[in-house]
Amino acid sequence: MKVKMLDLSREYKIYKKDYLNAIENVFNKGAFILGPIVEEFENDFAEYMNIKHVCGVGNGTDALRIALLACGIGNGDEVITTPFTFVATAETIAQTGAKVVFADIDKETLNIDPDEIVKKITPQTKAILPVHLYGNPCDMDKIIDISKEHNLFVIEDCAQSIGSLYKNKQTGSFGKCGCFSFFPTKNLGCAGDGGAIITNDEEINFKIRMLRAHGAAKKYVHRIEGFNSRLDAIHAAMLNFKLKLINNKNERRREIANIYNSIINDKIVRQKTQNGGQHVYHQFTILTEKRDELKEFLKKHDIDSAIHYSIPLHKQEVFSDHKDERYPISEKAVNKVLSLPIYPELKDEETVYVAEKINDFFR
Ligand SMILES: *Cc1c(COP(=O)(O)O)cnc(C)c1O
Repeated sequence: MKVKMLDLSREYKIYKKDYLNAIENVFNKGAFILGPIVEEFENDFAEYMNIKHVCGVGNGTDALRIALLACGIGNGDEVITTPFTFVATAETIAQTGAKVVFADIDKETLNIDPDEIVKKITPQTKAILPVHLYGNPCDMDKIIDISKEHNLFVIEDCAQSIGSLYKNKQTGSFGKCGCFSFFPTKNLGCAGDGGAIITNDEEINFKIRMLRAHGAAKKYVHRIEGFNSRLDAIHAAMLNFKLKLINNKNERRREIANIYNSIINDKIVRQKTQNGGQHVYHQFTILTEKRDELKEFLKKHDIDSAIHYSIPLHKQEVFSDHKDERYPISEKAVNKVLSLPIYPELKDEETVYVAEKINDFFR
């Protein structure tokens, strides 16, 4: 049996007609950039998130960059984030002109540790940028308390966490802005690059909308320097359909995680779900000292696995200013994490096969 990390063609086979209908509708309407189909998605996504404003943008990276800029973050400011994440999280902070400040992660949840955030606050700190890693919500009660005490913005990186709840509230709706990616492999993916920013703040929303379209408040009236970063109508059309499926799809991911959890030997460490959080398993990740040998063993049995991430950001060349800093938990995690195949169309028997092979390896 061959088990892939992800096979998007399985989903396409199930929903082919719906996707093609949605896309045909865009051609029939002839509105490819913004327009009614994008607005429909923004409205539906706002309702799903229980938030006032949604702004579709070109991708998840732009969502972060535009959210940071809309909050007025730039030169002279500091933004605290995790070194154990995808590069976009910190790259976009640096691109605003602000200084990236890393705070180490919690060794069980693998998310930014609120106690480490507190240690990194200075008079220049302007924002905290938590990442709900692999779909596991951060400790938002503590993060929001810290932000209130120190008067900081919270901008949530929800690229991996769409639909995941913390105390029954959507991740992304705690901070000033929540930033989403609709990259095809994410839990809610479109047919290319796409993203969105959510906020309850009217003024910030106004700025976000200017920034995504050349700084224009009205067409051809440019107030500020902006970008060309809009969600394409073809992607919005697909997302309008797929948004209706997301809760079921996330539930199926949890079902697969339960199968893994019930079979894989209890001694093997897994990412711990945040107390009060509901995980959406963008990744199902275990931690082992024998990670590389296990990966090799699985490969021999035709099972894919993946490492998210193999280098902590402070050790990446692009962040060489940070190379002498130490984040021991992140530095250990990069050598131990292994993500197993998980996606809604993964079959039970494939999941069982992977879990049993893992047990075989450790036996
Ligand atoms: C995917 C991802 C992004 C970037 O999203 P894109 O749509 O690929 O630009 C940002 N942060 C995290 C944690 C991600 O996983």
